[in-house]
Parts: sequence; C-alpha cells; structure tokens
Amino acid sequence: MTRMRIPDREIAKVCNLNPIGSIVGSTVDLSDAGGGNLKGLCPLHDDDSWSLRVVPLLGCWYCFACAEGGDVITFTRKTRNLTYSQAVEFLAAHAGIALTYEEIN
Ligand SMILES: [Zn+2]
Repeated sequence: MTRMRIPDREIAKVCNLNPIGSIVGSTVDLSDAGGGNLKGLCPLHDDDSWSLRVVPLLGCWYCFACAEGGDVITFTRKTRNLTYSQAVEFLAAHAGIALTYEEIN
C-alpha cells in the first residue's frame, strides 16, 4: 500500500493563505494588545483573564496560562481536535484550495 503525505510546499501555502489572526479570530473574540498583537480568551482552558496572545507578524499564538502555543495548524488541531493532516486539510478547504499529495518512498 502506498503511503501519501502532504508536501512541505503545500503546508507553507496553506499557512500563507490562512493568516493566524483571522483563524484564531473566527473562534475567539480578539482585541488589540498593542504592538500589532492581539489578545483574547484562550479557548483551551477556562480563561477569564485574556491569556491568549496572537502575534500576526510571526504567524504564531500562545497562552500565558496553559502554556499552549504554535502556528495556525497547531491552533486548528487543538481547538478542533484534529490530527496534523486533518488540520492542514481543514485549512486548505477554508482557503478554497485543493491539496496535492506525494508518495512517501
Ligand atoms: Zn490557555
């Protein structure tokens, strides 16, 4: 049986087409945290102190309280309980593109 994987260039394309601010912002209400960054209530724990930070310039997010963080794929995985491949596929569909796969030799 042939195993397939999503090539790195496809993953980079998916990340470029899904800005971190808009993906996190579709799940969490975000407000200005200064310096071009955004803040919101972390969806991964019971948060009442705006622990979530989004840094659009770096394409990343992190939470002061539960120490979770990462990129747009990590956020999609953790908030939607998906595998890595499922999260990439979700974000590709969200951006309206079809992924191409390659065989693992
Ligand atoms: Zn958190």
